Amino acid sequence: MDDTFTGMWQAIQEVGRSGDTGGYHRFVWTDADQTLREWFAGEAARRGMDCQVDRNGNQWAWWGDPAAGNAVVLGSHLDSVPDGGAYDGPLGVISAFAAVDGVRAAGNQPARPIAVVNFVDEEGARFGVPCAGSRLLTGSLPPERARALRDRDGHSMEDVLRAVGRDPGQLGRDDVLDTIGTFVELHVEQGRDLVDRGRAVGLGSEIWPHGRYRFEFTGQANHAGTTAMDARHDPMLTYAMTVLAANKKARLGGARATFGRVQVEPNGTNAIAAQVRAWLDARAPAVEDLAELVRAVQQQADDRAGRDGTTLTVTTESETGATHFDPRLTAELAHHLGDAPIIPTGAGHDAGVLSQAGVPTAMLFVRNPSGVSHSPEEFAEHDDCLAGVEALTRVLGELATAADSEAQQP
Ligand SMILES: [Zn+2]
Repeated sequence: MDDTFTGMWQAIQEVGRSGDTGGYHRFVWTDADQTLREWFAGEAARRGMDCQVDRNGNQWAWWGDPAAGNAVVLGSHLDSVPDGGAYDGPLGVISAFAAVDGVRAAGNQPARPIAVVNFVDEEGARFGVPCAGSRLLTGSLPPERARALRDRDGHSMEDVLRAVGRDPGQLGRDDVLDTIGTFVELHVEQGRDLVDRGRAVGLGSEIWPHGRYRFEFTGQANHAGTTAMDARHDPMLTYAMTVLAANKKARLGGARATFGRVQVEPNGTNAIAAQVRAWLDARAPAVEDLAELVRAVQQQADDRAGRDGTTLTVTTESETGATHFDPRLTAELAHHLGDAPIIPTGAGHDAGVLSQAGVPTAMLFVRNPSGVSHSPEEFAEHDDCLAGVEALTRVLGELATAADSEAQQP
């Protein structure tokens, strides 16, 4: 198991990696992403698994006939955020292939079809909408909206898909969804809960409600030297105060608020900005808390805009309610894994999208000693990764044979 795992890990560890930071830049439909897709297809072929690509570009490696239905699907994603870590996504895909190997090595003939999936465009780093591949699959992201999304260079998803030889008209809900009986995603933990509990592997209970909101602050471009301080309409000031307000509101409310992306026009050193466009990523334990957080941040930004003589528009780019993973499945798997702890997360995942679409879903988390994610510092010890593979193998074995025992009942 160790050799296969390590081999897969080494095969992709340089793909899309920055020589300066060691972080990863693996955005959907770029060369790095295509290389990873080829790697995925190769791993499927090596195992004699039939690699199929759905309407939206998600890759499915099948062991058994998907038409039989009630499949056990394992997997995650291979794309990254800008300068992301090595584990977020790939750990789940590699562990899924390793779990298939483990079940085969044990000589078990599964009673249900099994698939490993690579969900395309999970991070939304290029087009702004996270989990685009799984949301298109379930129909929660309308294809016409997806096609019109644009990357930072102004290319639409429609044009990008054409350029890589895909038909954008194909996007949309895919019947492969109906073949999934259970989905389990293994993921590096994006916090320190498991560190504090002294456990290598845990299960996910729920994903917090979360959303992305575009704040556009508009003011008046002017000369940095000749414009008196009290004669300015500087959107940078309104923006700066909004960042501080968001941070404070989130801290006081036990939520999370982050401005991590900003665009400034004209972005000149000696010019007052004309416009600042910034994205708020907000997350909270309950839908009402999230709504209240965003409302309060916007209110304070509006008040400040009034004083600065700037204007503000806020657009919701995506919003997702609370996701609870299947409690019975989760409890059962926790039991099989020696009473593994069940912990919540503030991060979104394809597993959440599938769960919201009614698929019985569970998540496994692997301890991350740095507690850091979406950064080159993201880490998991090799032994913990192997413990994750072992847990996933066990889970796959249990799930794939469970239908068997049920089928034998009269
Ligand atoms: Zn992820």
